[in-house]
Amino acid sequence: MSKRDFYEVLEVNRNATPDELKKAYRKQALKYHPDKNPGDKDAEEKFKEAAEAYEVLSDENKRHRYDQYGHAGLGNGNGFSGFGGGMTMEDIFSHFGDIFGGGDPFSSFFGGGGNRRGRSVNRGANLRVKVRLSLEEIAHGVEKKIKVNKYVACQTCKGSGAKGGSSYSTCSTCHGSGHVSRVTSTFLGQMQTTSTCPNCGGEGKIITDKCPDCAGNGVVKGEEVISIRIPAGVSEGMQLSMGGKGNAAARGGIAGDMLIQIEELKSDLFERDGTNLHYAHFISFSEAAMGSNAEIPTIDGKVKIKIEAGTQSGKVVRLRGKGLPSINGYEGKGDLLITLNIWTPKNLTKEEKSILEKLGKSENFKPAPGNSDKNIFSRMKDLFEQ
Ligand SMILES: [Zn+2]
Ligand SMILES: [Zn+2]
Repeated sequence: MSKRDFYEVLEVNRNATPDELKKAYRKQALKYHPDKNPGDKDAEEKFKEAAEAYEVLSDENKRHRYDQYGHAGLGNGNGFSGFGGGMTMEDIFSHFGDIFGGGDPFSSFFGGGGNRRGRSVNRGANLRVKVRLSLEEIAHGVEKKIKVNKYVACQTCKGSGAKGGSSYSTCSTCHGSGHVSRVTSTFLGQMQTTSTCPNCGGEGKIITDKCPDCAGNGVVKGEEVISIRIPAGVSEGMQLSMGGKGNAAARGGIAGDMLIQIEELKSDLFERDGTNLHYAHFISFSEAAMGSNAEIPTIDGKVKIKIEAGTQSGKVVRLRGKGLPSINGYEGKGDLLITLNIWTPKNLTKEEKSILEKLGKSENFKPAPGNSDKNIFSRMKDLFEQ
């Protein structure tokens, strides 16, 4: 059977935006979701087909390859493992589970995924949180405590959904296996199909008396304070994940993950460039001409630097290791690059004017840039080549 076009599967046009793709996938997934179509093999295939299409089209690289070469562009050796029946429903949920979340921590309607080979395992929806960090926190790493609203296990029934924690019986339809096999006669001969047990939804057991506090779901809306250890060196847009810290799953399944997105607060002092930091320092004309000392803020407190006599405006002083640590640790720390700018006075008294007029006539005050005072661009170039 030839594969259907991915855009056709998701019912979008070829220049659909990522957002449109996401919406389209959500729509298809809702329509063919196994919870809505228990035991329907055709719906399951459609559900998988949509997941496959979305997996490819939501990835810029894969989409590009697919646009150029079609399905053939997605063969082996390019990171695409190929669904070809190889992707289980569980894979789809762990992959795209959060698409059903839509930012609402309580929309874990789609928490459940089935394991085709045995009893189905409920999986809680992922939880997304944003954490805002100052440059100082990024430099040293930080522990953040945040309060999240999410589904937590029901205390009354200990997450089982059954009243008293034990009022359930083995499903009589599937005898506890969670799936049913059916032999059907087709013109090709006898065929055996296995599907999720429609009676117990694949769980293998039936709650005889539901817990009144959670209506048999095993989870209730709640909140939790979670401690998040952020390593030093993270940057804007980075995503960390904490396994099992997402929404609790219905009736004792596997909790989802908490996905933590890093937001970097802008610093008043420093400009970040990877692991390097830039700082602009102003010195007076007399300090530049005669030399001086300056106190410079760094991420670890103040340090003193020497201003050489005859410093030109735009000179960059590099303080090695005073930048940010790399997230990988072993790459060491970046540098602090201090640009020295000479402050030109904007208001002058009569007396200052007359002194400057006299000085201006001196031969030493005439600009005479030599090789060592190369223009700012070549100086910057030197810096990057170091
Ligand atoms: Zn309960
Ligand atoms: Zn059953």
